[in-house]
Amino acid sequence: MADTDTIAAIASAPGAAGIGVVRVSGPHVPAIAQALLGRAPQPRHAHLAVFHDDDGSLIDHGLLLHFPAPHSYTGEHVLELQGHGSAVLLDLLLRRVCVLGARLARPGEFTERAFLNGKLDLAQAEAVADLIAARSEAGARAALRSLDGAFSQRVQALLDALVALRVHVEAAIDFPEEEIDFLADPAIARQLQALRTQLADLLVETRRGVRLTDGLKVAIVGRPNAGKSSLLNALAQSERAIVTPIAGTTRDVLRETVSLDGVVLELADTAGLRDTQDEVEREGVRRARGELARADLVLLVTEAAHRVADLHLLAELPANVACLVLVNKIDLDAAAPTELSHAGVDHLRISARTGAGLDGLRTELRARAGAGSGEGAFSARRRHVLALEHVQAHFEHAAGALAASAGELAAEDLRQAQHALGEITGSYTSDDLLGAIFGSFCIGK
Ligand code: GDP
Repeated sequence: MADTDTIAAIASAPGAAGIGVVRVSGPHVPAIAQALLGRAPQPRHAHLAVFHDDDGSLIDHGLLLHFPAPHSYTGEHVLELQGHGSAVLLDLLLRRVCVLGARLARPGEFTERAFLNGKLDLAQAEAVADLIAARSEAGARAALRSLDGAFSQRVQALLDALVALRVHVEAAIDFPEEEIDFLADPAIARQLQALRTQLADLLVETRRGVRLTDGLKVAIVGRPNAGKSSLLNALAQSERAIVTPIAGTTRDVLRETVSLDGVVLELADTAGLRDTQDEVEREGVRRARGELARADLVLLVTEAAHRVADLHLLAELPANVACLVLVNKIDLDAAAPTELSHAGVDHLRISARTGAGLDGLRTELRARAGAGSGEGAFSARRRHVLALEHVQAHFEHAAGALAASAGELAAEDLRQAQHALGEITGSYTSDDLLGAIFGSFCIGK
């Protein structure tokens, strides 16, 4: 159960000045409602109320709504007070509610109570924050699906299947004389294999969910003067990066957020990757490498003459990072060869200057950012991906242990896998984790 005190805050949509409500939650709500209205409110009924200060002076008139426990957002008694939307008046109303027995809520405290009272699981609670912070339509829709439980249900289905498998494995250990036979049962190996497939699918969709929530992190790399800054500007349609013909101009990492038809791209133009004696530029190159480690996609910008030689830069990329090679400046010499198919790399021909090929690039980026990923796409966070990766590692160990008939080891890995899965939805949590999650919410949510 959550704390038993009563909390209050002004809740308003971000950026929506003038629209706001005072939200109150906790056991004192019926008494506070009675004091404000002069009588007990009807549940879920909009009452026209005249709000007075402690000394009887008029604060505002507006609407009062009471949602009795447990049928409310937090699962506690909840009161919502709507006034004329003036920040000053809302503040007076909030103070009045605090005099009547509430205290100011901490950021995310309403949603934290909803979680503690079992109204939402942890992944759904995080979706509330992601919905509020969504920067794209695709991101908002995905967050709403997670809030509705689309992601949690997938995790729960995996958990159920895992628990069923654990029952078998634990039973085998409990009957040591039959353990070997039990563990050698091909049904157990098949069950684990099915779990691993289910998990792999979920991991792909969860990674896409992170991209929908955070945007696709794109790092632009290439030798100096390849046209990286020009490309960033062309995509961002501004003059954010300084474009000059002198090699080594982009010394720091420049960032730009670009919205492409409902998806967000976080673009980072990095210093040209090259050995340099210049201290400042060397720092830029160091940061470029850091940027690469965090990227979802690397755009390697090159030009016809250097296109083959520049492929060595691919070897400097962290393993598992997707890369797209852009052969730039195709406006210069239409006859110059731009073919790269023999190298087996994805590549596009573009001109950052004339815009040729950029529509194709935008389409590619949108697809990689998760746009049009279907009705079922849900939002997710890096924390969830990390947890699923842990589960994956434990499944792998468990498979090895099962193959070696090491029942105890397999059982332990499956137990830890269950723990990691439970951390996503919050069946296992720590105060630190809850503090980190709810502390990043805005007040009133
Ligand atoms: P960076 O060092 O990789 O960031 O390269 P810049 O974007 O600063 O570009 C270097 C030079 O190449 C500048 O003079 C640009 O105007 C020029 N440039 C960039 N893209 C193109 C292109 O598509 N066509 C042509 N002709 N020139 C380009």
